Amino acid sequence: MSTATLPDDLLLREHFTELKPPLAPQAAVIEANRCLNCFDAPCTGACPTHIDVPGFIKRIASGNLRGSALRILDANILGASCARACPVEVLCEGACVMHRYNRDPIQIGQLQRFAMDSFRATGEELLTAPRASRNLQVACIGGGPSSLACAAELCRHGASATIIERQPLPGGLNTYGVAEYKLRAADSLREVEMIRRMGVSFRFDSDIDSAETLEELESEFDFIFLGVGLGAVQRMDIPGEDSPGVINALELIASYKTGRIREIKGTVVVVGAGNTAIDAANAARRLGAETVYLLYRRGERDISAFDFEYEHAKQEGVQFLWRRQPHAIRSNERGRLLLETVQVCEVDGALSPILDSHDTIECDFVVPAIGQSPFAQLVRDLRRIEVHSGRIVADPATGQTGNPRYFAGGDCVNGGREVVDAVADGKRSARAILKIAEAAYA
Ligand SMILES: Cc1cc2nc3c(=O)[nH]c(=O)nc-3n(C[C@H](O)[C@H](O)[C@H](O)COP(=O)(O)OP(=O)(O)OC[C@H]3O[C@@H](n4cnc5c(N)ncnc54)[C@H](O)[C@@H]3O)c2cc1C
Ligand code: SF4
Repeated sequence: MSTATLPDDLLLREHFTELKPPLAPQAAVIEANRCLNCFDAPCTGACPTHIDVPGFIKRIASGNLRGSALRILDANILGASCARACPVEVLCEGACVMHRYNRDPIQIGQLQRFAMDSFRATGEELLTAPRASRNLQVACIGGGPSSLACAAELCRHGASATIIERQPLPGGLNTYGVAEYKLRAADSLREVEMIRRMGVSFRFDSDIDSAETLEELESEFDFIFLGVGLGAVQRMDIPGEDSPGVINALELIASYKTGRIREIKGTVVVVGAGNTAIDAANAARRLGAETVYLLYRRGERDISAFDFEYEHAKQEGVQFLWRRQPHAIRSNERGRLLLETVQVCEVDGALSPILDSHDTIECDFVVPAIGQSPFAQLVRDLRRIEVHSGRIVADPATGQTGNPRYFAGGDCVNGGREVVDAVADGKRSARAILKIAEAAYA
């Protein structure tokens, strides 16, 4: 495993107290007993990994916590992080039949967390097929949820899987991106450790960035799974963008999660209005920024963040500046940033700046959060792999790309969704690879 570690940071835990603290055992049993065990389980249908939700909840109600956790893990090896990170409001809990009766949905995410935490506390290992019992070697590029799910599924069925990650720590955005008040980086790493103990191998600080490095992998492995996620935050392309004090949202979030930033003072302007922008704005507030603005070029109804994330940001004290876009960044004699903005109006769907509407915000940090660019460079270097609008084109049923030895899943295919979607993709590709290998060796 990586020798890199996270600081055990009390300050971080104080700033980022959990949004949803865990259920106490008695409360979990009471909640589990509210579940109607619907035969058609719309919650299971709404979960991208199709966890048998009534099945695991029934086991909590009957006190079979081990059985409950194994049921979750069978469908979703990252059950612990998904329980914390999933936007359940629009997934399993959003589909709960309790809504029809005007009652609160069953707290599926919280119950899933309860089962997974109880399992972890026992220290029990997950059973896998005898190690490398199949003569099948797979490389998974990227150490995020999609690759972890792919590698774990392969190992469970006796294949060898190696995760190759450019960062010093595994977990992808589970470790470096998801807001700490939902999923702690330390919890992400604990989950990865469980996967490592199942037999998955890891190579860290290893960047697969050229056709040559891919060719080396091709000679070592039978199949390659691409779980590379998305690239860096897009640039705003305005003067002064590289000034000190301009830090992109992913960098800001990764820095506080790994203890490199512990405090932010003054005024912060986040540019963008997606979930990442909201996470960065909330983080800035929790790290101490007195004033945090979120600047968006369209209106309130157009934001891409989930409604509940928007409401949460308002509760955190984030202020919203609508229909404005950044124009230039300068600094003043006191070393503060001057963010020039311009008001925009929408005509037939197109945005255009309004004359004489410039305004300047004096601030300490500008945080661009205007979407991530795709990993164009890597995929351009790949032979026979189609890329459409920056996304790798893969068969929706298997994840196989135009090159039969390459599979892909997660953000690099879907353009950026949720952790649970990446897990579903990784599992899907692992099963397809196992099937091909089985047919070849039959
Ligand atoms: C700020 C932020 C907050 C989010 N919050 C939530 C949330 O609350 N809930 C939720 O469900 N989802 C959330 N998401 C989305 C979720 O994190 C992603 O959908 C999920 O992590 C995608 O998994 P992945 O495996 O496809 O990619 P990633 O998690 O991005 O992992 C890709 C990994 O590949 C590595 N890599 C890339 N290229 C190479 C290469 N060439 N060589 C070696 N390694 C490479 C990267 O370093 C990275 O570790 C959030 C995303 C962001 C950006
Ligand atoms: S993995 Fe996520 S969507 Fe699926 S049941 Fe669990 S909390 Fe709900």
